Amino acid sequence: MTSRIPHFIDGTLTPGISGRTAPVHDPATGVVSAEVDLANAAEVDVAVRTALAAAREWRTSSLSRRSSILFAMRQQLSDRADELARVITAEHGKVHADALGEIARGLENVEFAAGVPQLLKGDFSEQASTGVDVYSIRQPVGVVAGITPFNFPAMVPLWMCANAIACGNSFILKPSEKDPSASLLIADMWKRAGLPDGVFTVLQGDVETVDALLEHDDVAAISFVGSTPIAKHIYEVGTSRGKRVQALGGAKNHALVLPDADVDLAADAIVSAAYGSAGERCMALSVAVAVGDVADALVDAISVRLPKLVVGPGTDPATDMGPLISREHRDRVVSYVSAGEEAGATVVVDGRSADVPTDGFFLGVTLLDHVTDDMTVYTDEIFGPVLGVVRVDTYDEGLALINRNQYANGTAIFTRDGGAARQFQFDVEVGMVGINVPIPVPVAYHSFGGWKDSLFGDTHMYGPEGIKFFTRGKVVTSRWPDPATSTVDLGFPTNS
Ligand code: NAD
Repeated sequence: MTSRIPHFIDGTLTPGISGRTAPVHDPATGVVSAEVDLANAAEVDVAVRTALAAAREWRTSSLSRRSSILFAMRQQLSDRADELARVITAEHGKVHADALGEIARGLENVEFAAGVPQLLKGDFSEQASTGVDVYSIRQPVGVVAGITPFNFPAMVPLWMCANAIACGNSFILKPSEKDPSASLLIADMWKRAGLPDGVFTVLQGDVETVDALLEHDDVAAISFVGSTPIAKHIYEVGTSRGKRVQALGGAKNHALVLPDADVDLAADAIVSAAYGSAGERCMALSVAVAVGDVADALVDAISVRLPKLVVGPGTDPATDMGPLISREHRDRVVSYVSAGEEAGATVVVDGRSADVPTDGFFLGVTLLDHVTDDMTVYTDEIFGPVLGVVRVDTYDEGLALINRNQYANGTAIFTRDGGAARQFQFDVEVGMVGINVPIPVPVAYHSFGGWKDSLFGDTHMYGPEGIKFFTRGKVVTSRWPDPATSTVDLGFPTNS
């Protein structure tokens, strides 16, 4: 019998009662490994009411208690990273080293949040008027829901929940139904770290579950990460219901390679950023913009590296790239490659005919040259192991191409010229910029977020902006009676 993946409500693994489930696959074999419960509106209501009660209690906990629970959570993640990585690989398919990498980037957020006593210090203005002090404090918003994508089943939830919980909120995670098991391991870690029951909840689910969270009056804020159409929908509906929403969307990240770039360094960086995790990263590079005569050398340097990439199960230590998340997604990626070829792109390396395992959802890596900005392989987010090279004559032409794109998550420039890099950082209309760094995901003490269709809302994820998102400001203006007028003799000189 296939196993069932339940919810985690009030500190307990809770089987679903809706009767609705979805299959979870091992992408390396294509076999259904489990069925995940999908919560309905009644289950959402129970979870939210439990989380609300927990939030009322949790916000009274001292900062030092919160901090020590976060330190204990850090220890859990560190001690059990290997176990969590295996769970991720089994349902997502990424190689073990990638899974460990995402856990390390998630753990950074727990470390940042452990500094909550420092982060929530607030501001104080003494003597704003005679005898009057004014101070700003930040308080939790209440129940926060996090809705997360399949591609980082541990890191993205940790981007959200560490800060939300540190700020005194309770947090309901609605993970992707495609790889739901990591969420339950994270829940177990929170429990063992000493977090009170109800402060961290997992509601397995799909669109029906998300709709119920959006409709629920007691959900105060929603952190979303996923594709652009859903991000826009969550932002519009959530804010129309009076919730605060940060909704991060899809991406199409460009690398601008200038004629003076170190071609080997650029090729190594672009190969790992384009094909790592089978291209299923929101910060994956999917377009290389080659300026002037660097194009031939760059295409050659990338194409000689590709045959060395080993495609296979993520559990095999020799594997560089695992399968895609589903059969449908793999077929969709293939159709983009075919559409690019039909539209006139040159297929330099063809993943469609690669020698890859036939079971599971594998696809080889593809390199397309002479891509133009009217091809779907350029305009659409493909989210697979496909890199397109667009050739331009000048820096200005490359910059204009990047700035015209609807997505603006990350970008990178490859050059030896510091002045050119600085100019690019000034000019480019993208939220995160790498200079000879292909995947510029900010460390946890900065914040993560794109511009344009890559983010709806005005706060970026985690770091200082995460603390702002998960708290609301309160300003107190205070005046105390002059102690000299006290009816009790306090030892102050009297005014009379
Ligand atoms: P997705 O948008 O399909 O799903 C994301 C979440 O939304 C899941 O929990 C899913 O259950 C839920 N969902 C799906 N359809 C819904 C609907 N109609 N109504 C309400 N909820 C719905 O995304 P995905 O395929 O899981 O993840 C890949 C996408 O996420 C890519 O577009 C990628 O670029 C993006 N992503 C962005 C970032 C970022 O930081 N900007 C990070 C990771 C992933």
